[in-house]
This record gives sequence, structure tokens and C-alpha cells, in this order.
Amino acid sequence: MLDIVRAADPDYASLQHVYGATGAPAAILRPRTAEEVAEALALARETGGELAIRSGGHGISSISTNVGGTVIDLGRLNGIERLDDTVVRLGPGAHWGHVAAELYPWGLAISSGDSGDVGVGGLGTTGGIGLMGRAHGLTIDRLRSAELVTADGVLHRVSASEEPELFWAVRGAGANIGIVTSFEFEAAATPVVAQATIAYQLNDVAGFLESWGELVEQSPREISAFLYMGAGSVPFAQATVVFASDDADAALAALTPFTELPGMAGQRAQIVPYAAVPLTTDAPHSGQQRAFTHTGLVDHLDRAVARRLATLLAEGSTQMVQIRSAGGAINDVPSEATAYAHRHQNFSVTAIAGADSPRFAAAWEPVHALMTGMYLSFESGRDPGRIMEAFPPATLSSLRAIKAEWDPDGVFNQNFDVTRSRLEPAR
Ligand SMILES: Cc1cc2nc3c(=O)[nH]c(=O)nc-3n(C[C@H](O)[C@H](O)[C@H](O)COP(=O)(O)OP(=O)(O)OC[C@H]3O[C@@H](n4cnc5c(N)ncnc54)[C@H](O)[C@@H]3O)c2cc1C
Repeated sequence: MLDIVRAADPDYASLQHVYGATGAPAAILRPRTAEEVAEALALARETGGELAIRSGGHGISSISTNVGGTVIDLGRLNGIERLDDTVVRLGPGAHWGHVAAELYPWGLAISSGDSGDVGVGGLGTTGGIGLMGRAHGLTIDRLRSAELVTADGVLHRVSASEEPELFWAVRGAGANIGIVTSFEFEAAATPVVAQATIAYQLNDVAGFLESWGELVEQSPREISAFLYMGAGSVPFAQATVVFASDDADAALAALTPFTELPGMAGQRAQIVPYAAVPLTTDAPHSGQQRAFTHTGLVDHLDRAVARRLATLLAEGSTQMVQIRSAGGAINDVPSEATAYAHRHQNFSVTAIAGADSPRFAAAWEPVHALMTGMYLSFESGRDPGRIMEAFPPATLSSLRAIKAEWDPDGVFNQNFDVTRSRLEPAR
């Protein structure tokens, strides 16, 4: 029987909130099977009101809870299963940190993001810019098939040969077309990697960023590099650089140039199981990390981008800028192959602020003007124009046609709804 949790139930307090927001839903539906997901969806549609789909509860725009509505919480669909040598089946409610830990003894790994607390469902339906991305592509590039429940309650298996248009849409815009109940990924045989953590104190932020960008682009594909830049009177940066192999000599050669960038203040490098790379806390959700973000993708960290980022960091409303490498194997995939279409950019750039102020928006704008696309998983803003940045015209037009067929009533309208000309606030 479908488990329904309401405010008076003992489990409610641990389920009402997500990472970035507090919530007070009227009902939290906790399916254990795909059939119960269909049942939960039918119940939610019959009840009416606001609907939220939740896998790991780590969505940046915090739309996986609500006030007074229904939440379908997929946390119990958290299986991690090996199907053959390299193919694994993951439930949407599994967390990437647990996936990495389970896959390690099998000699396998899947590139996901830097947080092990992120759910398979949210990241696996939008992209997955990870710390082995330049070596192995986006997380969705390793997806071989999925099962999803569409708005009519029907369960579909989708792959390159089964309902290929739904399979295409799942890989970048999954939240628009259904609820994914399981994913089959082709994992990589890279269970062990070299990981460097490097701190920099910066005299010339723009100059550093330009050098950083050039170095990342010139690095071998085994290198993926995330840079976290703190704002304030003494600019600093911390980097996580991963070499996706256990070849210590090759890793040393590829990582050393990162320690030679100006301002290097400290570093540590070690060969580790990939499972040690995503930071995994398993902390309960209490809305503890409300963050406001703007994000974009850019081809190169050239002088213009670097200067504007330096200005953004100095301006005062931005707390942090995160720069994640894309490129490499991510850009081997043709733009039209998946609903995530951005296959020429080398970096994802995200600005984070503690308040969603007009000042933050204005400070972001000059950087935004140089961006050539957007990865929707890092955007907390609700500007309708952002849908066009996430999905270029040809992609958007295909997505709208698929949505018209499979979600004609707009049940899945919470997450960058491709049919909207204006993206209204979720609540
Ligand atoms: C600390 C932190 C670090 C991050 N680092 C990275 C990173 O390095 N790389 C990266 O690519 N991303 C990163 N992200 C972004 C992350 O990938 C997205 O926020 C993702 O949506 C979170 O997934 P979730 O399942 O935890 O989210 P949830 O909050 O559970 O879901 C978010 C939304 O996704 C949709 N969704 C969720 N599950 C399903 C499903 N099964 N079927 C259909 N739609 C679904 C729904 O619209 C839902 O409201 C990070 C996020 C955080 C908070």
C-alpha cells in the first residue's frame, strides 16, 4: 500500500524539508515501486494543488518541496545493482556518494558531481557535470536506458531503440516529461583516481582565471578541474583537480602545472578510490543551505570573461564563484544527440549569493552577457528567458512537441517547463 506521510506522522519532520528550503506539504507520498509511483501520481493529480517530485532533495532551485501541496518522494527507490560487467541499475532516490561507494569494489565508477549527497534522479535527468567529465562525458552520456512514468500513469522503458524520443528528452529535460523510476548506466572501469586539492591566494584574479582556463583546456582529458573562488578583501581560490586514472606518473605530470599557477598557497595530492571524491555527508535536510545562484556556460575563460568575473567577485553581493570544467568527452557528443545540447563550451560558471537581490542580478549581468548557454541544474533564478538559454531553439522545439504528446495537461510544470513563455515562481 502506498505510504502517505502527513503532518501528524512521526516521519514527517524528516521528510518535509529539502537541502535549500523548508517546506510544509499536505502529503508526502513514498512509493516503493514504479507501480506505486504511478499510483502516487494519479493520487496527486486527483488531489490537485502543487506537485513536487523529489529524488535526493538537493535541487538548487529547491522545488522538491512545497507548502500545502503533494510531494512524491522517491527516496525509497534507491537501489544500486550490477547487471553485468559494466552496466548498473540505479534508483532515482540513491545518492551519488553511495553509488560511488557501491561501485568501487566492482572496479567501476560513474562521473557525477562534487556532492555525494545529490540524488541520482535530479542529476541524472539534467546532465551531470562531474569530476571525471572530461574523461567520460556528462553523467547522462553514460545512460543506456531508463524507466519512467508519464503523466498518464504509463510506465515506459526508454533507450536508443525503445521510444527513442523519450530517451532523448530524459537526457537533459527529464523533469518535463515524467518521473524516472530507474536508470541503467554504463559505468567506467576507473575506480581509482588521483585527486589534488590546491589553494591559491590571488593578487590578480583576472590573470589567474585566464591562466586557469588555458591550463584546463590544454590538459589531457583525464583531468577535470573544479575551481571555487571566494569573494572578499583577500581573494582566494580552492581547486579540486581529478586525474581519472591510477597511473601515478601520468597523474603527477598532469597535476604539476596546477601547482605552478601564481599564488599557489598549499596543495595535497593522493591516489584515492573515486568514491572519496564526491563529498558525502548524509546530513538530514532542514533547508540548511539556501543559496541564490546564476549560472552559464562559456567556451573559454578568455580575458573578457576573466575580467568580468574578477569584477563580480569584488563587487560585494556575490559570495562565491564556482567554475567547473566541461569540454573533453562531453563535447564529443553531437549537440542534437541529447536534450542537453551544449557541446562546445569548456566551462560552467556559477555565481552564488546569500540573497536574491537586484544588486546580485545586476552584478551577474555583464558575465551573463558573455555566456553561450546554461545548465539548468545550477540556476535558482526564475527568469523565463533562461529556458531559451538552457535549450537552444531546435532542442526547445523538439521538447515542446514531445511534451505536447506526453504531458498535454502540464502536470510536470515545476522545473524549467518548456511550454512556458514565462517561468513563474513555483510558489
Ligand atoms: C551542494 C551541491 C553540489 C552540486 N554539484 C553539482 C555538480 O558538481 N555537478 C552537477 O551536474 N550538478 C551539481 N549540483 C546540482 C544537482 O545536480 C541538481 O541540483 C540536481 O537536480 C539535484 O538532484 P536531486 O535528486 O538531489 O534533487 P531534487 O531536489 O530531489 O530534485 C530536483 C528536481 O529534479 C527533478 N527530478 C528529480 N528527480 C526526478 C526524477 N526521478 N524524474 C524526473 N525528474 C526528477 C524534479 O523537477 C525535482 O524537483 C549540485 C547541487 C548541490 C546542492
